[in-house]
Amino acid sequence: MRVLIIEDEERLAQTLASLLKRSGYTTSIAGDGISGLTLAESRAFDAVILDAMLPGMNGFDVLCRMRADGNDTPVMMLTARSELADRVQGLNAGADYYLTKPFENEELLACLRTILRRGGAPAPDVLSFGDLTLTPSVSSLSCGDRTVSLSARELDLMQLLIRNSGQLLSKDTILRKVWGYDSEAGPNSVEAYLSFLRKKLNLLSSNVRISVTRNLGYKLEVKS
Ligand code: CA
Repeated sequence: MRVLIIEDEERLAQTLASLLKRSGYTTSIAGDGISGLTLAESRAFDAVILDAMLPGMNGFDVLCRMRADGNDTPVMMLTARSELADRVQGLNAGADYYLTKPFENEELLACLRTILRRGGAPAPDVLSFGDLTLTPSVSSLSCGDRTVSLSARELDLMQLLIRNSGQLLSKDTILRKVWGYDSEAGPNSVEAYLSFLRKKLNLLSSNVRISVTRNLGYKLEVKS
């Protein structure tokens, strides 16, 4: 799960990031409203923690712009306790949750879990495409009676490909969704992991292949 933190108080942003990392989330930080909006608009995040008072563009305007653009990523808004009127303003702007500063770590994590649940259907136990069955809980990919295990990165990549099986995914999108913004991985990493997956598809003798459309991207398809 990837969480974007838009917060100009650097110490708070770092504290939040390490709290979330300890809880298994991947995080990115933006220190002002405009760069935060740009990152949020990439749609690479499962949730956004958004401070109300930000330089450049305030949190309410960031949220309004996101919603106006049809971006329904769950948003938790942070505001000082004194700014009670902002609570109403935040909810009107489309925040999924409103949390007043200061807050307890556990409270923030519980709110985050709540908005993440609201944001999308729970992940199914098993995903399938063509003759393939992917079981994320045990990192296994099966075809008929053959099964191979996947590394964590291969699993993320395979889930992304299956969940978006109808559409081409660019190398850049794959990089953002699987490796995240803070990673030092590049396009070569995407190619390397796609080739690992192709080898495993061959081992399974699956009828599914990862097709490539030059300069546009990759998708899963069933061999004809
Ligand atoms: Ca602030």
